[in-house]
Amino acid sequence: MTAPARVPAPSRVPVRTRTSADLIRAEEPVLAHNYHPLPVVVARAEGTWVEDVEGRRYLDMLAGYSALNFGHRHPALISAAHEQLDRLTLTSRAFHNDRLAEFAERLAELTGLDMVLPMNTGAEAVESGIKVARKWAYEVKGVPADQATIVVAADNFHGRTTTIVSFSTDETARTGFGPFTPGFRVVPYNDLAALETAVDETTAAVLIEPIQGEAGVVIPDEGYLTGVRELTRRKGCLFIADEIQSGLGRTGRTLAVEHEGVVPDLLLLGKALGGGIVPVSAVVGRRDVLGVLRPGEHGSTFGGNPLAAAVGTAVVELLETGEFQRRAADLGTVLRDGLAGLIGKGVLGFRSRGLWAGVDIDPAIGTGRDIGEGLLREGVLAKDTHGSTIRLAPPLTITEAELASALGALERVLGRG
Ligand SMILES: *Cc1c(COP(=O)(O)O)cnc(C)c1O
Repeated sequence: MTAPARVPAPSRVPVRTRTSADLIRAEEPVLAHNYHPLPVVVARAEGTWVEDVEGRRYLDMLAGYSALNFGHRHPALISAAHEQLDRLTLTSRAFHNDRLAEFAERLAELTGLDMVLPMNTGAEAVESGIKVARKWAYEVKGVPADQATIVVAADNFHGRTTTIVSFSTDETARTGFGPFTPGFRVVPYNDLAALETAVDETTAAVLIEPIQGEAGVVIPDEGYLTGVRELTRRKGCLFIADEIQSGLGRTGRTLAVEHEGVVPDLLLLGKALGGGIVPVSAVVGRRDVLGVLRPGEHGSTFGGNPLAAAVGTAVVELLETGEFQRRAADLGTVLRDGLAGLIGKGVLGFRSRGLWAGVDIDPAIGTGRDIGEGLLREGVLAKDTHGSTIRLAPPLTITEAELASALGALERVLGRG
């Protein structure tokens, strides 16, 4: 008997021949509407540039919310990924893999901490940090069972899980998703006196972003991070720094906490740790804190997989050169000077550190969304954070000329408003 002939699949228009407009329309009925993307359909990218389906090129001034700090498809990261794809991709943590030790050693060394808990997404790193802090509170600090509190800041962004939105102050992120996880206290950001009042004998940790990214690149006063470090040490609770967006070169240092010479007890990393290739996140911390976890108490099927470890190690290797931190610091002054020149020309104010800025646009000119659409027409990709604030966070590989052209595009868009 002969094998039945394979029925050919019904012919469909190949994806590559559909226009951007076709593809945007095609998403509508089949894709959950939890995002409102700008109307551009990206098909390929390299370095600081992306190209859409029709071959139009755009300068990327968002860099995947800082997941692309090293640009699109950095050759060292792509080659590390290729090499690993050809050898071993997943073992689960049921077994050891030959890439994980080096990743953990080098990440701990880079951050000045002792131990690494590898996870995948940023939200998982935050969740893991919360679990570790609670366990530490019960086992080491002696907080009565189920009484631990974690103090967080208003206008925080730490991710999208049920527990994390439980302590968000953004009603859009919360409404409709209760009931919420108890055990969190919210205080104003950049307010040491409020923190002093909120932290008590039940407090496991203070969890903050050293710079609040989604809130609009909000930079606390000089001395705040030092104050948080001093207060948490004095009161006997942990300092957890969420550097998922602020870390890994973005601000001109490896970590944003370095601007005040502060070392947290637990550090949360994600986004750029995966080099824009795979999701890689981690909780990095002191041995006496991460050491509370014992086999079976926490885990992740994909956390610490060899592909993630290979890419993460290559990311750490890039950061060990100091080149990206230096570029962010140097070009950060170009960005700052350029934005200062736009004050009064449609820019009401801005906050920046390194290659990271939150720019408040005069609402009379338009919403952040309008500015994003205007920039898109100028061949620049950027996104609003909320209201009339736009975020600029280009790959750290951007050249001075490219940065100047992005600022020129912004000036033209504002001038037209
Ligand atoms: C993006 C982000 C997260 C969440 O990361 P995901 O990978 O999207 O889960 C957490 N904290 C901060 C500060 C972030 O910017």
